Order: sequence, then structure tokens, then C-alpha cells
Amino acid sequence: MIYIGSHISSSKGYRAMGKQAVRLGGDTFAFFTRNPRGGKAKEISEGDVLSYLEIAQEYHFGPIVAHAPYTMNPCAAKEDIRIFAKEMMQDDMKRMEYTPGNYYNFHPGCHVGQGTEKGIELTSRMLNEIIMPEQTTIVLIETMSGKGSEIGRTFEEIRELLDRVTRQDKVGVCLDTCHVWDGGYDIVGDLDGVLQKFDDVIGLARLKAVHLNDSMNERGAHKDRHQKIGQGQIGMEAMKRIVNHPKLQGLPFILETPNDDEGWAKEIAMIREWLS
Ligand code: FE
Ligand code: FE
Ligand code: ZN
Repeated sequence: MIYIGSHISSSKGYRAMGKQAVRLGGDTFAFFTRNPRGGKAKEISEGDVLSYLEIAQEYHFGPIVAHAPYTMNPCAAKEDIRIFAKEMMQDDMKRMEYTPGNYYNFHPGCHVGQGTEKGIELTSRMLNEIIMPEQTTIVLIETMSGKGSEIGRTFEEIRELLDRVTRQDKVGVCLDTCHVWDGGYDIVGDLDGVLQKFDDVIGLARLKAVHLNDSMNERGAHKDRHQKIGQGQIGMEAMKRIVNHPKLQGLPFILETPNDDEGWAKEIAMIREWLS
């Protein structure tokens, strides 16, 4: 059993997101906590959240996976950019508590020439500054493709980031299939081996969510261009093995494929058919 859903627009609030997820056949979803390019977030209405929670309960939703604005860079060289990222994440941590016990996924950032070590140091420092001891939200570090100066391409880098976080119970990992493939991990030819490696280096208990995307590029391309499920270099058969892998059961799987609503509904239905 897995939970499956797509990215959904947050512009009309929580209830609308819940209804849209159901309409697409999903039992989880992802959304941006604010404009993906960053900036001020909309007020949260408690009534709206309550009617969302009713929908989530009625349709047995799994954990939902919020996404931080992707342009923020927690390990930027310029201090004002890092402060901007920190303030957004701090505000997001408060907002996430309206829907307790869910996931907040973020990109660990680009070291922009400072080196991977420095990047890891800055991003982990920021995590320690934004995580509140009383929060119920788990912050997920997303595995990255290694485009540009991205940190978090290798499982070792993710492990190092995690190790430096004080509140070990508030952090986890989101595995993006397009990113790990573009990062060089052979999830087509050796899925068992890659997951074993993840377990050895990070620990599978840390894995809380999957971004299920095919990739336009060959393995190791470091490009990060998502493709529809089964239509890219990862391909249909590998996707079937991923969603059915025993070590990935129980997790929310989020589609970030280049689709419209109809396309996502079709992908969700197709994946449900694959589940054995
Ligand atoms: Fe992402
Ligand atoms: Fe992703
Ligand atoms: Zn991506």
C-alpha cells in the first residue's frame, strides 16, 4: 500500500486542495506553502483548515507533503538571501502546525562556489534555527540531481546534513526519483542496490516521502527535467517496480510530472492499477 497524489495549487485554500486531490483520485498531495518564488503567504483560515481535515479523514488521506519555495537558498553566500530563506521557513513552520503531523519538503540549496562542506554547514545551521521543539511537522530534505552547485545529490551529503540537526525526531528525507536518477543512482537496473545503499548511508527509517517523476535525461545527467510517468528514461517497468517495492510501502508518493489535471488523474489511476 502506498498513498498517491499530485502537486495541487494552494491558491484557493485547504478545502479546495482536499477536494481537488479526491477529484484526481489521490489520497495525498503536495502544495506550495506560498508563491514558489517566495514572498508573503496568504492568511490561513481555521474554518478552511477544519473542512480540509474532515475531507482528509473521510477519504483516509496519508500525510501531505508541503513544498517550500524552490528559489530560496538556505546556503547562499549572501547573508540577506540566507535570512530571507530562514524567515520564510520559520513562518512556514508555524503555518504547517494548522495541519499537524505532516511533512515539509525543501531543497537543501546551492553552495554557489563556497563548496559542498560550507553549504552543508549553512543549511544544517539554518535547520537548527527554524525547527521548533514543540512542532509536529517533520522537515524533509529532498534528494537533488546535482544541477549547478546543488548540495544533497549524494546520500552521503544528505546523511551529513541530517547528522548536524539537533532535533533528530523532526527531520527526514524525500526521495525524488528523477533527481536520484539524474544524480547518477541506477534505480532502473538496480533498484534494490540503490535502496540498500540508502539504508546503509542514511537509514530507510528516515525516508518519509517519494517524489515520483520520470526523467527526460539519461542517468547521471545532473539536469533535473521531469517527464511523465513511463515516458522518460526511467520508464514504465522501473516505475512499476518502484511503486511496488516492499521497502517503499506506506509512504506518500507525489507526482511532479509535467501534466494538467486530466494527465495527473490518468497517472494516478494507472499507478493504482499497478499496485499489487
Ligand atoms: Fe522539489
Ligand atoms: Fe521533487
Ligand atoms: Zn526536480
